[in-house]
Amino acid sequence: MKNNFYDAIIIGSGPAGSSSAYFLSAQGFKVLVIEKEILPRYKTCGGGVVQRVAKLFPFSFEEVSDVQCFTTEVFDRRANRHFVTRRDKPIIYMTMRKEFDYLILSKAKAAGAMVLENTEATDLITGKESVDVLTKDDKYTARFVIGADGAGGICSKILKLKLYLIRLPALEYEIYTGDSMLDKFNKSARFDFDILPNGYGWVFPKKDHLSIGVVEMKKRKKELNKLLDIYLKLLGITNVQRYERHGYFVPLIKGNNLKFAKDRIFLTGDAAGFADPVTAEGIYSAVLSGKLAADTINESYLSAGMAADLYNYKINHSIIDELRFSKIIAALVYTYPAVRGLLFRFYGQKLSELITDIFMGEKKYHDLLTDPLNYYKLIKYLLKND
Ligand SMILES: Cc1cc2nc3c(=O)[nH]c(=O)nc-3n(C[C@H](O)[C@H](O)[C@H](O)COP(=O)(O)OP(=O)(O)OC[C@H]3O[C@@H](n4cnc5c(N)ncnc54)[C@H](O)[C@@H]3O)c2cc1C
Repeated sequence: MKNNFYDAIIIGSGPAGSSSAYFLSAQGFKVLVIEKEILPRYKTCGGGVVQRVAKLFPFSFEEVSDVQCFTTEVFDRRANRHFVTRRDKPIIYMTMRKEFDYLILSKAKAAGAMVLENTEATDLITGKESVDVLTKDDKYTARFVIGADGAGGICSKILKLKLYLIRLPALEYEIYTGDSMLDKFNKSARFDFDILPNGYGWVFPKKDHLSIGVVEMKKRKKELNKLLDIYLKLLGITNVQRYERHGYFVPLIKGNNLKFAKDRIFLTGDAAGFADPVTAEGIYSAVLSGKLAADTINESYLSAGMAADLYNYKINHSIIDELRFSKIIAALVYTYPAVRGLLFRFYGQKLSELITDIFMGEKKYHDLLTDPLNYYKLIKYLLKND
Protein backbone atom coordinates (compact mmCIF):
# COMPACT_ATOMS: atom_id res chain seq x y z
CA MET A 1 0.00 0.00 0.00
CA LYS A 2 1.26 3.49 -0.84
CA ASN A 3 2.85 5.58 1.90
CA ASN A 4 0.33 8.37 1.40
CA PHE A 5 -2.62 6.06 2.07
CA TYR A 6 -4.33 6.31 5.48
CA ASP A 7 -7.31 4.82 7.24
CA ALA A 8 -8.40 8.36 8.06
CA ILE A 9 -7.23 11.87 7.26
CA ILE A 10 -8.38 14.53 9.66
CA ILE A 11 -8.51 18.14 8.54
CA GLY A 12 -7.91 20.50 11.47
CA SER A 13 -6.35 19.97 14.89
CA GLY A 14 -8.82 21.75 17.20
CA PRO A 15 -10.66 19.71 19.85
CA ALA A 16 -12.74 17.89 17.20
CA GLY A 17 -9.79 16.90 15.00
CA SER A 18 -7.32 16.13 17.80
CA SER A 19 -9.90 14.01 19.60
CA SER A 20 -10.84 11.96 16.56
CA ALA A 21 -7.11 11.50 15.85
CA TYR A 22 -6.54 10.36 19.42
CA PHE A 23 -9.46 7.90 19.55
CA LEU A 24 -8.63 6.44 16.10
CA SER A 25 -4.89 6.10 16.73
CA ALA A 26 -5.52 4.52 20.12
CA GLN A 27 -7.51 1.84 18.29
CA GLY A 28 -4.65 1.15 15.89
CA PHE A 29 -5.83 3.05 12.81
CA LYS A 30 -3.33 4.78 10.53
CA VAL A 31 -4.16 8.47 10.84
CA LEU A 32 -2.91 11.73 9.35
CA VAL A 33 -3.88 15.15 10.73
CA ILE A 34 -3.50 18.09 8.34
CA GLU A 35 -3.41 21.51 10.06
CA LYS A 36 -2.96 24.80 8.22
CA GLU A 37 -1.38 26.68 11.14
CA ILE A 38 2.04 26.26 12.75
CA LEU A 39 1.46 24.38 16.00
CA PRO A 40 0.68 25.02 18.75
CA ARG A 41 -1.60 27.82 17.55
CA TYR A 42 -3.74 30.48 19.26
CA LYS A 43 -7.53 30.07 18.98
CA THR A 44 -10.04 32.81 19.82
CA CYS A 45 -11.96 31.18 22.64
CA GLY A 46 -12.71 31.60 26.34
CA GLY A 47 -10.86 28.31 26.84
CA GLY A 48 -13.44 27.21 29.41
CA VAL A 49 -13.45 23.41 29.31
CA VAL A 50 -16.38 22.00 31.24
CA GLN A 51 -16.21 18.84 33.36
CA ARG A 52 -18.24 16.75 30.89
CA VAL A 53 -15.37 17.12 28.41
CA ALA A 54 -12.94 15.62 30.95
CA LYS A 55 -15.23 12.60 31.25
CA LEU A 56 -14.71 11.75 27.57
CA PHE A 57 -10.95 11.20 27.95
CA PRO A 58 -8.96 8.53 29.77
CA PHE A 59 -6.23 11.12 30.50
CA SER A 60 -6.34 14.25 32.62
CA PHE A 61 -5.78 17.75 31.26
CA GLU A 62 -5.08 19.34 34.60
CA GLU A 63 -1.56 20.14 33.40
CA VAL A 64 -3.00 22.63 30.88
CA SER A 65 -5.63 24.18 33.14
CA ASP A 66 -4.51 27.53 34.50
CA VAL A 67 -7.32 27.72 37.05
CA GLN A 68 -9.90 25.13 38.09
CA CYS A 69 -13.24 26.73 38.91
CA PHE A 70 -15.37 24.89 41.45
CA THR A 71 -17.82 27.82 41.50
CA THR A 72 -19.87 29.65 38.87
CA GLU A 73 -21.55 33.00 39.33
CA VAL A 74 -24.42 34.27 37.22
CA PHE A 75 -25.42 37.93 37.41
CA ASP A 76 -28.61 39.31 35.91
CA ARG A 77 -28.92 43.06 36.22
CA ARG A 78 -32.51 43.22 34.97
CA ALA A 79 -33.74 40.72 37.54
CA ASN A 80 -31.29 42.23 40.03
CA ARG A 81 -30.18 38.75 40.98
CA HIS A 82 -26.92 36.92 41.59
CA PHE A 83 -26.77 33.11 41.57
CA VAL A 84 -23.88 30.98 42.75
CA THR A 85 -23.36 27.25 42.12
CA ARG A 86 -20.65 25.08 43.70
CA ARG A 87 -19.46 21.53 43.11
CA ASP A 88 -16.75 19.40 44.69
CA LYS A 89 -15.07 18.77 41.31
CA PRO A 90 -14.02 21.54 38.91
CA ILE A 91 -17.03 22.76 36.94
CA ILE A 92 -14.80 24.48 34.37
CA TYR A 93 -11.10 24.05 33.67
CA MET A 94 -9.75 27.40 32.48
CA THR A 95 -7.26 26.75 29.70
CA MET A 96 -5.53 28.53 26.86
CA ARG A 97 -6.68 26.72 23.75
CA LYS A 98 -3.18 26.69 22.32
CA GLU A 99 -2.18 24.38 25.17
CA PHE A 100 -5.42 22.43 25.53
CA ASP A 101 -5.73 21.48 21.84
CA TYR A 102 -2.04 20.64 21.63
CA LEU A 103 -2.23 18.34 24.63
CA ILE A 104 -4.90 16.20 22.93
CA LEU A 105 -2.91 16.24 19.69
CA SER A 106 0.24 15.16 21.58
CA LYS A 107 -1.71 12.21 23.02
CA ALA A 108 -2.79 11.33 19.47
CA LYS A 109 0.82 11.55 18.26
CA ALA A 110 1.97 9.34 21.13
CA ALA A 111 -0.68 6.82 20.03
CA GLY A 112 0.76 6.87 16.48
CA ALA A 113 -1.02 9.69 14.60
CA MET A 114 1.02 11.61 12.04
CA VAL A 115 0.66 15.38 11.91
CA LEU A 116 1.33 17.69 8.99
CA GLU A 117 1.28 21.29 10.22
CA ASN A 118 1.52 24.53 8.25
CA THR A 119 -0.30 22.73 5.44
CA GLU A 120 -3.73 23.72 4.18
CA ALA A 121 -6.19 21.23 2.71
CA THR A 122 -7.55 22.84 -0.44
CA ASP A 123 -9.93 20.26 -1.89
CA LEU A 124 -11.45 16.80 -1.40
CA ILE A 125 -12.06 14.38 -4.25
CA THR A 126 -14.19 11.34 -3.53
CA GLY A 127 -13.49 8.05 -5.30
CA LYS A 128 -15.24 4.70 -5.00
CA GLU A 129 -12.96 3.27 -2.32
CA SER A 130 -11.24 6.35 -0.95
CA VAL A 131 -11.01 10.14 -0.72
CA ASP A 132 -8.12 12.28 -1.97
CA VAL A 133 -7.18 15.29 0.12
CA LEU A 134 -5.38 17.92 -1.92
CA THR A 135 -2.94 20.44 -0.53
CA LYS A 136 -0.98 23.07 -2.45
CA ASP A 137 1.88 20.68 -3.18
CA ASP A 138 0.58 17.18 -2.56
CA LYS A 139 -2.18 14.62 -2.52
CA TYR A 140 -2.99 12.29 0.39
CA THR A 141 -5.50 9.47 0.25
CA ALA A 142 -7.61 7.81 2.91
CA ARG A 143 -10.57 5.50 3.31
CA PHE A 144 -12.30 8.20 5.37
CA VAL A 145 -11.92 11.94 5.93
CA ILE A 146 -12.96 13.78 9.05
CA GLY A 147 -13.78 17.45 8.45
CA ALA A 148 -12.71 19.17 11.68
CA ASP A 149 -11.75 22.47 10.08
CA GLY A 150 -13.93 24.67 12.26
CA ALA A 151 -16.33 27.48 11.45
CA GLY A 152 -15.71 28.68 7.91
CA GLY A 153 -13.71 25.60 6.87
CA ILE A 154 -13.81 24.06 3.40
CA CYS A 155 -15.18 20.59 4.24
CA SER A 156 -18.74 21.66 4.90
CA LYS A 157 -18.85 23.61 1.62
CA ILE A 158 -17.40 20.76 -0.42
CA LEU A 159 -19.83 18.22 1.02
CA LYS A 160 -22.88 20.33 0.03
CA LEU A 161 -25.11 18.84 2.69
CA LYS A 162 -27.34 21.93 2.72
CA LEU A 163 -26.52 22.75 6.31
CA TYR A 164 -27.61 26.22 7.34
CA LEU A 165 -25.34 27.70 10.00
CA ILE A 166 -26.15 30.84 11.97
CA ARG A 167 -22.95 32.73 12.80
CA LEU A 168 -23.03 34.39 16.19
CA PRO A 169 -20.48 37.16 16.61
CA ALA A 170 -18.24 36.91 19.68
CA LEU A 171 -15.46 39.14 20.93
CA GLU A 172 -12.81 38.45 23.50
CA TYR A 173 -10.02 40.38 25.18
CA GLU A 174 -7.06 38.72 26.85
CA ILE A 175 -6.47 41.30 29.57
CA TYR A 176 -3.26 41.61 31.55
CA THR A 177 -3.95 43.59 34.68
CA GLY A 178 -2.64 43.94 38.19
CA ASP A 179 -2.65 41.18 40.82
CA SER A 180 -5.56 42.74 42.71
CA MET A 181 -7.83 42.29 39.66
CA LEU A 182 -6.62 38.71 39.20
CA ASP A 183 -7.35 38.01 42.87
CA LYS A 184 -10.80 39.56 42.54
CA PHE A 185 -11.84 37.34 39.63
CA ASN A 186 -9.92 34.10 40.04
CA LYS A 187 -12.37 32.31 42.34
CA SER A 188 -15.15 31.56 39.85
CA ALA A 189 -16.33 31.44 36.26
CA ARG A 190 -18.49 34.54 35.93
CA PHE A 191 -21.39 35.07 33.49
CA ASP A 192 -23.27 38.39 33.14
CA PHE A 193 -26.65 38.74 31.46
CA ASP A 194 -28.21 42.00 30.34
CA ILE A 195 -24.84 43.37 29.28
CA LEU A 196 -26.21 43.08 25.76
CA PRO A 197 -29.90 42.44 24.98
CA ASN A 198 -29.51 38.97 23.47
CA GLY A 199 -26.28 37.55 24.74
CA TYR A 200 -24.00 37.47 27.72
CA GLY A 201 -20.56 38.45 28.95
CA TRP A 202 -18.01 36.26 30.74
CA VAL A 203 -14.91 36.57 32.88
CA PHE A 204 -12.63 33.53 32.83
CA PRO A 205 -9.53 33.69 35.05
CA LYS A 206 -6.23 32.43 33.63
CA LYS A 207 -2.77 31.98 35.13
CA ASP A 208 -1.53 35.53 34.49
CA HIS A 209 -4.50 37.36 32.97
CA LEU A 210 -8.29 37.42 32.47
CA SER A 211 -10.18 36.28 29.36
CA ILE A 212 -13.19 38.59 29.13
CA GLY A 213 -15.69 38.46 26.32
CA VAL A 214 -19.20 38.95 25.00
CA VAL A 215 -21.28 36.85 22.63
CA GLU A 216 -24.40 37.91 20.77
CA MET A 217 -26.81 34.97 20.52
CA LYS A 218 -29.33 36.37 18.01
CA LYS A 219 -27.07 37.19 15.08
CA ARG A 220 -27.97 40.88 15.16
CA LYS A 221 -25.16 43.24 14.32
CA LYS A 222 -24.21 44.93 17.56
CA GLU A 223 -21.29 47.08 18.33
CA LEU A 224 -19.56 44.39 20.31
CA ASN A 225 -16.41 46.50 20.83
CA LYS A 226 -18.43 49.22 22.52
CA LEU A 227 -20.39 46.70 24.59
CA LEU A 228 -17.25 44.96 25.75
CA ASP A 229 -15.77 48.30 26.84
CA ILE A 230 -18.96 49.07 28.80
CA TYR A 231 -18.76 45.59 30.35
CA LEU A 232 -15.17 46.20 31.48
CA LYS A 233 -16.26 49.43 33.16
CA LEU A 234 -19.16 47.66 34.90
CA LEU A 235 -16.73 45.02 36.17
CA GLY A 236 -14.50 47.76 37.51
CA ILE A 237 -11.51 46.54 35.49
CA THR A 238 -8.82 49.14 35.91
CA ASN A 239 -5.07 49.21 35.59
CA VAL A 240 -5.00 47.37 32.25
CA GLN A 241 -1.32 46.88 31.45
CA ARG A 242 -1.79 45.16 28.12
CA TYR A 243 -4.59 43.55 26.17
CA GLU A 244 -5.12 41.53 23.02
CA ARG A 245 -8.42 41.77 21.16
CA HIS A 246 -9.80 38.81 19.20
CA GLY A 247 -13.11 38.45 17.38
CA TYR A 248 -14.66 35.42 15.75
CA PHE A 249 -18.03 33.74 15.50
CA VAL A 250 -19.79 30.71 16.96
CA PRO A 251 -21.66 28.68 14.33
CA LEU A 252 -25.05 27.17 15.22
CA ILE A 253 -26.79 24.57 13.09
CA LYS A 254 -30.41 25.17 12.12
CA GLY A 255 -33.04 22.63 11.08
CA ASN A 256 -33.99 19.00 11.68
CA ASN A 257 -33.32 15.62 10.03
CA LEU A 258 -29.93 16.73 8.88
CA LYS A 259 -27.03 14.74 7.52
CA PHE A 260 -23.44 15.27 8.62
CA ALA A 261 -21.69 12.58 6.60
CA LYS A 262 -21.59 11.63 2.95
CA ASP A 263 -19.16 9.94 0.57
CA ARG A 264 -16.77 8.75 3.33
CA ILE A 265 -16.51 12.28 4.77
CA PHE A 266 -17.74 13.23 8.26
CA LEU A 267 -18.28 16.73 9.62
CA THR A 268 -17.45 17.37 13.29
CA GLY A 269 -17.41 20.26 15.78
CA ASP A 270 -17.78 23.82 14.50
CA ALA A 271 -17.59 22.60 10.88
CA ALA A 272 -21.05 21.16 11.52
CA GLY A 273 -22.29 23.99 13.80
CA PHE A 274 -22.61 21.86 16.95
CA ALA A 275 -22.09 24.66 19.54
CA ASP A 276 -24.64 25.02 22.33
CA PRO A 277 -27.22 27.77 21.60
CA VAL A 278 -27.62 28.57 25.33
CA THR A 279 -23.98 28.84 26.40
CA ALA A 280 -22.08 29.04 23.06
CA GLU A 281 -19.90 26.29 24.51
CA GLY A 282 -18.55 24.23 21.60
CA ILE A 283 -15.64 22.20 22.92
CA TYR A 284 -17.80 19.42 24.35
CA SER A 285 -19.69 18.68 21.14
CA ALA A 286 -16.48 19.08 19.12
CA VAL A 287 -14.81 16.36 21.20
CA LEU A 288 -17.94 14.20 21.30
CA SER A 289 -18.47 14.37 17.53
CA GLY A 290 -14.75 13.62 16.99
CA LYS A 291 -15.12 10.55 19.17
CA LEU A 292 -18.35 9.46 17.42
CA ALA A 293 -16.64 9.78 14.02
CA ALA A 294 -13.78 7.59 15.31
CA ASP A 295 -16.26 5.03 16.72
CA THR A 296 -18.12 4.99 13.40
CA ILE A 297 -14.96 4.27 11.42
CA ASN A 298 -14.11 1.51 13.86
CA GLU A 299 -17.57 -0.04 13.65
CA SER A 300 -18.03 0.13 9.87
CA TYR A 301 -14.50 -0.04 8.61
CA LEU A 302 -14.97 -1.04 4.98
CA SER A 303 -18.45 0.10 4.15
CA ALA A 304 -18.77 3.76 3.14
CA GLY A 305 -22.58 3.72 2.95
CA MET A 306 -22.94 2.11 6.33
CA ALA A 307 -20.43 4.51 7.86
CA ALA A 308 -22.33 7.60 6.71
CA ASP A 309 -25.68 6.23 7.91
CA LEU A 310 -24.20 5.16 11.23
CA TYR A 311 -22.56 8.53 11.87
CA ASN A 312 -25.74 10.43 10.96
CA TYR A 313 -27.67 8.17 13.33
CA LYS A 314 -25.17 8.63 16.18
CA ILE A 315 -25.09 12.42 15.81
CA ASN A 316 -28.86 12.79 15.49
CA HIS A 317 -29.43 10.66 18.59
CA SER A 318 -26.92 12.52 20.73
CA ILE A 319 -25.89 16.06 19.81
CA ILE A 320 -28.88 17.01 17.67
CA ASP A 321 -31.38 15.55 20.16
CA GLU A 322 -29.90 17.78 22.86
CA LEU A 323 -29.73 20.82 20.58
CA ARG A 324 -33.47 20.54 19.98
CA PHE A 325 -34.05 21.14 23.69
CA SER A 326 -31.31 23.71 24.23
CA LYS A 327 -32.72 25.76 21.35
CA ILE A 328 -36.00 26.10 23.28
CA ILE A 329 -34.16 27.30 26.36
CA ALA A 330 -32.08 29.67 24.22
CA ALA A 331 -35.25 31.13 22.67
CA LEU A 332 -36.60 31.79 26.17
CA VAL A 333 -33.42 33.29 27.50
CA TYR A 334 -32.39 35.40 24.51
CA THR A 335 -35.46 36.45 22.52
CA TYR A 336 -37.12 38.81 24.99
CA PRO A 337 -35.08 40.37 27.80
CA ALA A 338 -38.29 40.77 29.84
CA VAL A 339 -39.02 37.04 29.62
CA ARG A 340 -35.46 36.27 30.69
CA GLY A 341 -35.84 38.69 33.62
CA LEU A 342 -38.97 36.81 34.71
CA LEU A 343 -37.35 33.43 34.24
CA PHE A 344 -34.30 34.46 36.26
CA ARG A 345 -36.34 36.12 38.96
CA PHE A 346 -38.35 32.97 39.67
CA TYR A 347 -36.09 30.17 38.51
CA GLY A 348 -32.61 31.69 38.32
CA GLN A 349 -31.00 29.48 40.95
CA LYS A 350 -32.63 26.30 39.57
CA LEU A 351 -31.63 27.21 36.04
CA SER A 352 -28.03 27.94 37.12
CA GLU A 353 -27.90 24.61 38.98
CA LEU A 354 -29.23 22.79 35.95
CA ILE A 355 -26.72 24.37 33.57
CA THR A 356 -24.00 23.47 36.10
CA ASP A 357 -25.27 19.87 36.15
CA ILE A 358 -25.10 19.89 32.34
CA PHE A 359 -21.51 21.22 32.49
CA MET A 360 -20.71 18.43 34.96
CA GLY A 361 -22.19 15.83 32.57
CA GLU A 362 -24.81 14.84 35.13
CA LYS A 363 -27.91 16.14 33.37
CA LYS A 364 -29.12 17.10 29.91
CA TYR A 365 -31.33 19.93 28.60
CA HIS A 366 -33.79 17.20 27.87
CA ASP A 367 -34.20 16.68 31.66
CA LEU A 368 -35.18 20.30 32.13
CA LEU A 369 -37.97 20.24 29.61
CA THR A 370 -39.34 16.78 30.28
CA ASP A 371 -39.40 16.84 34.07
CA PRO A 372 -42.78 18.31 35.00
CA LEU A 373 -41.40 19.31 38.37
CA ASN A 374 -39.02 21.67 36.68
CA TYR A 375 -40.05 24.37 34.27
CA TYR A 376 -42.39 22.60 31.92
CA LYS A 377 -45.48 24.55 32.90
CA LEU A 378 -43.72 27.87 32.80
CA ILE A 379 -42.18 27.17 29.42
CA LYS A 380 -45.48 25.96 28.01
CA TYR A 381 -47.12 29.10 29.31
CA LEU A 382 -44.44 31.31 27.83
CA LEU A 383 -44.52 29.53 24.49
CA LYS A 384 -48.30 29.86 24.36
CA ASN A 385 -48.10 33.54 25.12
CA ASP A 386 -45.17 34.22 22.80
C1 LIG B 1 -14.91 34.22 21.42
C2 LIG B 1 -15.25 32.75 21.61
C3 LIG B 1 -15.21 32.19 22.87
C4 LIG B 1 -15.51 30.82 23.05
N1 LIG B 1 -15.41 30.30 24.31
C5 LIG B 1 -15.67 28.98 24.50
C6 LIG B 1 -15.47 28.38 25.79
O1 LIG B 1 -15.03 29.03 26.74
N2 LIG B 1 -15.78 27.05 25.94
C7 LIG B 1 -16.24 26.30 24.89
O2 LIG B 1 -16.54 25.11 25.10
N3 LIG B 1 -16.38 26.83 23.65
C8 LIG B 1 -16.09 28.14 23.42
N4 LIG B 1 -16.17 28.66 22.15
C9 LIG B 1 -16.50 27.76 21.03
C10 LIG B 1 -15.25 26.92 20.66
O3 LIG B 1 -14.14 27.78 20.48
C11 LIG B 1 -15.48 26.10 19.38
O4 LIG B 1 -16.75 25.50 19.43
C12 LIG B 1 -14.40 25.02 19.20
O5 LIG B 1 -13.15 25.61 18.98
C13 LIG B 1 -14.73 24.08 18.04
O6 LIG B 1 -13.66 23.18 17.86
P1 LIG B 1 -13.33 22.56 16.42
O7 LIG B 1 -12.26 21.56 16.63
O8 LIG B 1 -14.57 22.15 15.75
O9 LIG B 1 -12.77 23.81 15.55
P2 LIG B 1 -11.50 24.73 15.78
O10 LIG B 1 -11.12 24.76 17.19
O11 LIG B 1 -11.82 26.03 15.11
O12 LIG B 1 -10.33 24.02 14.98
C14 LIG B 1 -10.33 23.97 13.57
C15 LIG B 1 -8.89 23.79 13.10
O13 LIG B 1 -8.89 23.53 11.70
C16 LIG B 1 -7.81 24.24 11.10
N5 LIG B 1 -8.16 24.41 9.68
C17 LIG B 1 -9.16 25.17 9.16
N6 LIG B 1 -9.20 25.04 7.82
C18 LIG B 1 -8.20 24.18 7.48
C19 LIG B 1 -7.73 23.66 6.23
N7 LIG B 1 -8.31 23.98 5.06
N8 LIG B 1 -6.67 22.82 6.25
C20 LIG B 1 -6.07 22.46 7.43
N9 LIG B 1 -6.48 22.95 8.63
C21 LIG B 1 -7.54 23.78 8.66
C22 LIG B 1 -7.75 25.53 11.90
O14 LIG B 1 -6.49 26.17 11.76
C23 LIG B 1 -8.03 25.01 13.32
O15 LIG B 1 -6.83 24.67 13.98
C24 LIG B 1 -15.89 30.02 21.94
C25 LIG B 1 -15.92 30.58 20.66
C26 LIG B 1 -15.60 31.93 20.48
C27 LIG B 1 -15.63 32.52 19.09
